[in-house]
Amino acid sequence: MAGQNHETELEAAERRIRNLPRCGAAKLAGMESSFRELLEAVGENPERQGLLRTPHRAAQAFEFLTNGYRQDLDDIVNDAIFDSDASEIILVKNIELYSLCEHHLLPFVGKAHVAYIPNGKVIGLSKVARIVDVFARRLQIQENLTTQIADALMKALRPNGVAVVIEAKHLCMMMRGVEKQNSVMKTSCLLGSFKEDARTRAEFLALLSQ
Ligand SMILES: [Zn+2]
Repeated sequence: MAGQNHETELEAAERRIRNLPRCGAAKLAGMESSFRELLEAVGENPERQGLLRTPHRAAQAFEFLTNGYRQDLDDIVNDAIFDSDASEIILVKNIELYSLCEHHLLPFVGKAHVAYIPNGKVIGLSKVARIVDVFARRLQIQENLTTQIADALMKALRPNGVAVVIEAKHLCMMMRGVEKQNSVMKTSCLLGSFKEDARTRAEFLALLSQ
């Protein structure tokens, strides 16, 4: 068809979601029956109208929210790494982040800021966000998520340095009333020159606060 080679951002995102690796019928069915048992265990009637398809929908939601386990990082980054002479900090700020805390299976939601200093290679900006997603769509704790993103970028680009900062609100704290409702958890992982060079670190922090 004519004009089909220019897909919009939204179409590209929809195509990516359609093409995400699935976990298979058997595992999906297993999740469905687990959710049905959960409904019974909390005192619900899984047969009432509003809940009839809930185990199915919840299983599909969990399949999506854990699709990072089934994605291959090399596939995502390989065709998006380019040679470059750039030697200044490249910062991708405010990447939306949705993950699940591995202790309570409740969401934590926030923003990731990812910076690196190229050493001959750069990566497409949208791919930085995809790297964040690959690790966020697993059961996580925020500290490990931060480190995994930094390590992945280090491995893919061999840059002079990588810095990852994540700020997130944890629903397991907010909904259970454990902590102040608006507390934001902040984690960071600094590698290479961001760790070793105080001036680089200061420049990064200044960029972050702009
Ligand atoms: Zn938790």
